[in-house]
Amino acid sequence: MPRTAHSIHGGPQTDARICVVGAGPCGLTTLKNLKAVGIKHIACYDDGDAVGGNWVFRKERQSVFATTHLISSKKLSSFEDYPFPTYFPDFPSQQLMRSYFEDYARHFGLMGDVHLNTHVKFASLLPDGRWMVVVIDSKGEREEVFDYLISKMAFERNYWIKRRGSQRLP
Ligand SMILES: Cc1cc2nc3c(=O)[nH]c(=O)nc-3n(C[C@H](O)[C@H](O)[C@H](O)COP(=O)(O)OP(=O)(O)OC[C@H]3O[C@@H](n4cnc5c(N)ncnc54)[C@H](O)[C@@H]3O)c2cc1C
Repeated sequence: MPRTAHSIHGGPQTDARICVVGAGPCGLTTLKNLKAVGIKHIACYDDGDAVGGNWVFRKERQSVFATTHLISSKKLSSFEDYPFPTYFPDFPSQQLMRSYFEDYARHFGLMGDVHLNTHVKFASLLPDGRWMVVVIDSKGEREEVFDYLISKMAFERNYWIKRRGSQRLP
């Protein structure tokens, strides 16, 4: 079936609706770059209460410990377009990393498109090539339809997207 949201160059038209799952480092850079090419309708959902993904320490979730530091060096780990502040040590702590991602999101004006405390329950490819995405937030569960779906998360939780049909998260 034809995709309705392609430009003649094969990329998304600026009025395409795009869903980005996860506001960790990858989700934030994706969001920044989509906005930079003029995409206007983006919803970035993250089920945590802050941006930064893995680098947001929470007692109830296993990602980083309170004492975790980056193991990749300062020189190699910051974003090209947003260097670490000079006062960062060679191997920044999780607290510094979290504040770095928050600053990045604010600096590039991303927070208006980030929906925290919003869980993506499942996503399903529709016959017309768009995506039906089921999200859960404080108001309950709802379906949203997007032209594109981008799932940005490093680890185990990206297997719930099915190209046909849908699959619930475990
Ligand atoms: C202990 C540890 C140490 C690490 N050290 C380094 C290091 O030193 N250097 C390095 O470069 N990398 C390191 N990493 C790798 C780390 O994964 C990356 O730095 C980075 O966090 C990956 O970014 P991401 O955006 O892909 O995923 P994540 O940071 O995992 O972010 C994914 C986000 O998506 C959200 N999410 C997931 N599923 C859903 C859903 N269904 N609905 C809504 N939201 C959802 C999550 O809550 C999370 O906020 C380390 C990882 C760990 C675990």
